[in-house]
Amino acid sequence: MTTFAELGLAEPLLFALEAEGYATPTPIQTQAIPQLLAGHDVLGIAQTGTGKTAAFALPILHRLTLEKRRAAPGTVRALILVPTRELAVQVADGFGTYGRNIRYRRAMVFGGVGQGPQVRAMAGGLDVLVATPGRLIDLLDQGHIRLDQVTTLVLDEADRMLDMGFIPAVRKIASKLPVGRQTLLFSATMPKPIADLASFLLRDPVRVEVTPVASTVDRIDQKVMFVTRENKRNLLLDVLQGNSVNRAIVFTRTKHGANRVAEQLAKSGVTADAIHGNKSQNARQRALEDFRSGKVRALVATDIAARGIDVDGVTHVVNFELPVEPESYVHRIGRTARAGAEGIALSFCDAEEVAYLRQIEKTIRQAVPVEHDHAWHAEPIARLATAAARPGGPVPRPPVRGQQKPRPPQGAKPQGGHGAKPHGAAPGAKPHGAKAHARGR
Ligand code: AMP
Repeated sequence: MTTFAELGLAEPLLFALEAEGYATPTPIQTQAIPQLLAGHDVLGIAQTGTGKTAAFALPILHRLTLEKRRAAPGTVRALILVPTRELAVQVADGFGTYGRNIRYRRAMVFGGVGQGPQVRAMAGGLDVLVATPGRLIDLLDQGHIRLDQVTTLVLDEADRMLDMGFIPAVRKIASKLPVGRQTLLFSATMPKPIADLASFLLRDPVRVEVTPVASTVDRIDQKVMFVTRENKRNLLLDVLQGNSVNRAIVFTRTKHGANRVAEQLAKSGVTADAIHGNKSQNARQRALEDFRSGKVRALVATDIAARGIDVDGVTHVVNFELPVEPESYVHRIGRTARAGAEGIALSFCDAEEVAYLRQIEKTIRQAVPVEHDHAWHAEPIARLATAAARPGGPVPRPPVRGQQKPRPPQGAKPQGGHGAKPHGAAPGAKPHGAKAHARGR
């Protein structure tokens, strides 16, 4: 097995990694770091949780240890473009952690906050700048920073940049960089516009690819819990009051729902906070910090707000509501089981969400095992799901999006856990049934 020292990293970095408790490099680190140290461009297919931040931060910091020269005023040496401010904070934190034994200047630039402190930070020159594209373009247009000294450009989570409409901004920024730079592009998926962007930005890149979605999913102990809509909050309380829950992220579909769930939990004595797009940057950072420090045990989040939440030691992800997009399920549950750890993902499914569950199972090519041993198990919904999973079975219709009408009760009373039947594997699923049976049924 390769060690960080064998990858050729400088001593101050090795000490920092040791202090952080990283014993061995992850696969993306083993593959990418030597290529980056040798000066190659790299196209990395990797999602969060694989250790990709260290894979690009360590070689950049390594170079800083070799070159005594620091950035000239108003210029930048390494530029990292990220889609969201949460990811910016996370990446900058990574640089802080790994570069703790090195003297260099770094800063973050993102929208939604005053630009004064960002402008002041840039004036002195930056060795590392982590930026979202929109605000960076504003600052470039105002002449606060020059990019003609950039030696390394990193594009992190390029597919998210695409989702958020940032590709033209990225191209504009890239046009202001020297051609002789080193470029790295990381993306969990490689849709055509990202492949095109990569061939525009990268020169003869080395391609490194790790952990396809399925293998992350495989490490997570997934369960679906059938429950009526009105009993979900009772079930959530039961789950969170259990001893095994150390840190939990609870997902809702709406911001309003996130607030409501967080309030209900707090009232019932479970420390909780909500994180979503209507909250100020400061409130979000505070919530994250409290979650990280353990002051708050449950963080209730929407999908957008959860992008880039990177907290180690999340023992449980609870889907209070199933996501409409099956891919979001994979992103959500990936918040646990980070960096090789194991995690538990519980999905609450009411009658109207059975259709979403079916879509998710098709996407992950597995049947999610049923946990029926809980006080709020709704057998009629379990039967509906079993019928829906049968080839040629009835196709449950997903609710109309945004529909807020109160729904009729779905016919389940609290009861002891017995009698739920497995609802069968998804058509086209891998022969996964044995594992599923061994676990929850
Ligand atoms: P990332 O994919 O960059 O979001 O990293 C996922 C998580 O893995 C982060 O919380 C890192 O602290 C952690 N991590 C990164 N590299 C290693 C490593 N070699 N050993 C243990 N943990 C790591």
